[in-house]
Amino acid sequence: MRTRVRIGISKCLLGEPVRYDGGHKLDHFLTETLGKYVEYIPVCPEVECGLPTPREPMHLEGDPDAPRLVTIKTRVDLTDQMSRWAAGRVAELEKEGLMGFIFKSDSPSSGMERVKVYGGKGMPVRKGIGMFARAFMEHFPLLPAEEEGRLHDPAIRENFIERIFALARWRDLLAENSALGGLVAFHTRHKLLVLSHSTRSYREMGRLVADAKRTPLRTILDQYQRLLMDALKLRATPKKNANVLMHMAGYFRRELSSAEKAELVQIIELYRKELVPLIVPITLIKHYVLVYDQKYLKDQQYLNPHPIELQLRNHV
Ligand code: SF4
Repeated sequence: MRTRVRIGISKCLLGEPVRYDGGHKLDHFLTETLGKYVEYIPVCPEVECGLPTPREPMHLEGDPDAPRLVTIKTRVDLTDQMSRWAAGRVAELEKEGLMGFIFKSDSPSSGMERVKVYGGKGMPVRKGIGMFARAFMEHFPLLPAEEEGRLHDPAIRENFIERIFALARWRDLLAENSALGGLVAFHTRHKLLVLSHSTRSYREMGRLVADAKRTPLRTILDQYQRLLMDALKLRATPKKNANVLMHMAGYFRRELSSAEKAELVQIIELYRKELVPLIVPITLIKHYVLVYDQKYLKDQQYLNPHPIELQLRNHV
C-alpha cells in the first residue's frame, strides 16, 4: 500500500491533556497498537475553537437534532462559535486525505452518537451527536467513523479497521489514475471480501463493473466507492464468513484428499459455530493457497485485509 493510512482522532485519546479538567483519555490500543500502522491527525474541537484548558464543562441541550452547546454553570451559549470553527476545520481536513475518524464517546463536541441532550426539567435523552462529530460526518459521509469505546468490541474493531485499509487501497487505485482495467482488477481482488459482508452488494458491484463501459469512468468510480464503503459497513458474521470459506474450499476440490477436505470443512464448521476464531480456517486455507499456488485466491484481499499483527481475526 502506497497511501499513508491517515485517521483523524479526538486529541485527548492520544493522551494529550486537553480535556475540560486538564486531563486526557489515553487509549493504549489506539496509541500503541493501531498507532504503528496509521498516522493520526489529532483534533480537539473545544481547544481549537478557542476555549482554554481547564475550562467549564458544557453539554448539549434543546432539540436533539439541532441542539445548543451551553456551559453548564454560567450558561454561555457556545453553539455559534463551535459551528463556525467546525465548518472551517472540516474544509481544512479535506487536504489531509483522511481515511476515517476515531471520536471520543459521550462528548458534546466529539461524541458520535448517543450523547446526552438536556431539555426542560426531565432526564437527558441519549440521542445527540457532538457538534464537531456531526459536522465531520455530514461533510465526509463515506468515511469510516467510530468511537473509542465501541472499538473495544472485537467485531466492531475489526470492521472499522478493515474499512480504513480498504479505503487506503482504493485511494491507491485513484492515485494511479488508471483506466477501467484498474477498477476491474481492484474489484476482482475484493470480491470475496465484499461477499463476506453482503451478497447483495457483491452482485450489485459486479453488475456495475460489468456495465462500466457505458458510463463515464468518474461516475463509475464514485458509484463503486459508495457501494464498497456501504457494503463493508455491514457486519461480516460467522455465517457469512463461513459461506465464503466454503466457497474458497471449493477451489481445492481436485487437490485435497478426502481426509483433508473433511478436516477443512470441519474447521470451517467449528468457526461457524463460534468455537474457533476466524484466523484458524483462514490459516489453513492460506496454507493450501501457497502449497497449490492457487492464483485467484492468492490475490484475494479477504485473506489479508489488514496487518496480521493487529490480531483482528483472533477472537471468537
Ligand atoms: S472529547 Fe473532544 S473536545 Fe473533549 S477533550 Fe477530547 S478531543 Fe477535546
